[in-house]
Amino acid sequence: MYGEFDLTLPQTLQEAVKALNAAGKDAVPLAGGTNVLIDLRSQRLVPKQIMDLGRVPGLRGIVVEGGRVTLGARTTVSDLLASPDIARCGPALVQAATVFAGQMVRNTATVAGNIACGSPAADLVPPLLSLDAEVTLTSTRGSRTVALCDYYTGYKADARAPDELITAISWPVPEANTFGTFYKLARRKGDAITVNGVAVSIGISDGRCVRARIALGSVAPIPMRACNAESLLEGQVLTPERIAAAAKAAAEECSPIDDVRATGAYRRRMVEVLVARLVENAVQAMT
Ligand SMILES: Cc1cc2nc3c(=O)[nH]c(=O)nc-3n(C[C@H](O)[C@H](O)[C@H](O)COP(=O)(O)OP(=O)(O)OC[C@H]3O[C@@H](n4cnc5c(N)ncnc54)[C@H](O)[C@@H]3O)c2cc1C
Repeated sequence: MYGEFDLTLPQTLQEAVKALNAAGKDAVPLAGGTNVLIDLRSQRLVPKQIMDLGRVPGLRGIVVEGGRVTLGARTTVSDLLASPDIARCGPALVQAATVFAGQMVRNTATVAGNIACGSPAADLVPPLLSLDAEVTLTSTRGSRTVALCDYYTGYKADARAPDELITAISWPVPEANTFGTFYKLARRKGDAITVNGVAVSIGISDGRCVRARIALGSVAPIPMRACNAESLLEGQVLTPERIAAAAKAAAEECSPIDDVRATGAYRRRMVEVLVARLVENAVQAMT
């Protein structure tokens, strides 16, 4: 059963940040509710106040302008799937959205909710990390932008102050010579928590790698970039040996744990296999 809480229904962003400023840690923002409602029911979450963002205008939508893609915080997983702009400017995100939960959850689960829940297994985060995404945080003090790669400060801990809302997520439109992809390894095809999530974004020019982003989910306390692996690829010709060395480095720099879904050793091995496979696929797609 649910505990007792006050429900706030702000009608504007100003009202929302003002109420959040007054309530601080006592208020929990509610977007699609696909995490919050479960946590309320199990009483893992016992808030004094729930702030439903559903009536705040301007928080949902996808805009491509000035060389950047911007998602409103309440953009849903289904919105991503329906968008030709996301297909063009974030194909890895589309692949993550395709294997995200089931249709009903996709229709209500939001991008900001996925980022803010702080799960290392959050499926939209590795693709967004591979795109160099930034998170816009808004409070009564104004807005600030945090690179997604700096957003998480520890397991379920982040850079968001209690009086801030995520209002947007944005990234630069990828260069034409860039290929992005994502793979979710899980125990079932649908409605499964990720064992390993891997997103890569590879750019090649004149036969050399000019951009390498490798982002990993479910293999560390936070969704992470495999920066050592990336640096082994950038500036290099992507030979099978070079790719294998980068995949090995990615496996070495993650820190997976054993849980009910897989052992840490299996996850680490799968990072090596999947990073190699996804980078090879990217190279093949661009040659
Ligand atoms: C059956 C089922 C299947 C699922 N499958 C997947 C899956 O395949 N992959 C996956 O990654 N996740 C999955 N999830 C988890 C969940 O659906 C996602 O994390 C989803 O993106 C959460 O978004 P939401 O809008 O529902 O967030 P909510 O539940 O509304 O909120 C989640 C958290 O984010 C905070 N929050 C929301 N919006 C904001 C904001 N604008 N600013 C600041 N904080 C905010 C809330 O306070 C809360 O802490 C699943 C959940 C269920 C129930």
